[in-house]
Amino acid sequence: MDDTQLPWHDALWRQLQQRRAANRLPHALLLAGPAGLGKLTFARRLARALLCASPDVGGDACGQCRSCRLFQAGTHPDYSPVQPAEDGKVIKIDQIRDLCAFLGYTPQYGGYKIALLEPADRLNVNAANSLLKTLEEPPGNCLLLLVTAQPARLPATVRSRCQVILFSPPTADITMPWLKARVAGGLDAVALLETAGGAPLAALTYADGERWRRRRELADGYEQVMTGRLDPIRAVESWTQGDLAENLRWLVSWQIDVIRLKMSSHPPRLSNPDLRSLLRGWAERQAPRLLFDRLDAALRLHTLCVTTQVRADLLLEAFLGDVAGEQ
Ligand SMILES: [Zn+2]
Repeated sequence: MDDTQLPWHDALWRQLQQRRAANRLPHALLLAGPAGLGKLTFARRLARALLCASPDVGGDACGQCRSCRLFQAGTHPDYSPVQPAEDGKVIKIDQIRDLCAFLGYTPQYGGYKIALLEPADRLNVNAANSLLKTLEEPPGNCLLLLVTAQPARLPATVRSRCQVILFSPPTADITMPWLKARVAGGLDAVALLETAGGAPLAALTYADGERWRRRRELADGYEQVMTGRLDPIRAVESWTQGDLAENLRWLVSWQIDVIRLKMSSHPPRLSNPDLRSLLRGWAERQAPRLLFDRLDAALRLHTLCVTTQVRADLLLEAFLGDVAGEQ
């Protein structure tokens, strides 16, 4: 099994292969679900397999034929991946026009023409409208793969023309053997997986010591802001370092855990079991009402920072200033 064959994809993969065998693959698939489940890996695996000249019995690419070698080299003429030109920016109409032209040409290898859009929710309005025409009248041999963790941000007109493949966090019996084989000894795979909301690939990125350390530093710094030992303006710096969206997801998950700890001395589930004693301290210090307000504020902060161009440092400054002022 190679790295693209993730055990929690098995059932979805088999379903698609059955449809392929019955010649019932649609022209557009929307791969949706939380981050860290390997949707993009799945989409690439599918594209590669459909372009392969002699797939194996499970439907996977052979890895040997000319198509496979071109795919691996990133030069397959019948495959076109589309991403925002810059990180965090949008997919523009020019990119979609080029893509639609590409899909209209005859395939060079006589099989599929495949486009992969990721993250598809970054299509701007004009680009989405331009894509719609191709979705309404797709060339016979084309397949569009749209990958997104936020399907609700796609126009309904685009969504409704795709068949949705929904990815959900797998159960621990599928994930844990895979994860344990990949994290270094000494790291708590259960805590990693819980913190990642059950998403195995996210858990694996947390196994990178640097991230795990940054998360702990943020939690300690947040505690210091709460207790008046750290100036919120100075604290902002550490929040904007690294992956801002991830930092804010952590913040949200702490606030949720704090509420769980406020409601019960032994909550059945915590997303951050390793931070239990720190979070319990936060829970004890605050009235329930304030904890819910702060969760709302953290969610708003996350949404604004991830989906708009508003300056994150200013938003964080206001949020942390409120936190410091509430004590
Ligand atoms: Zn092949």
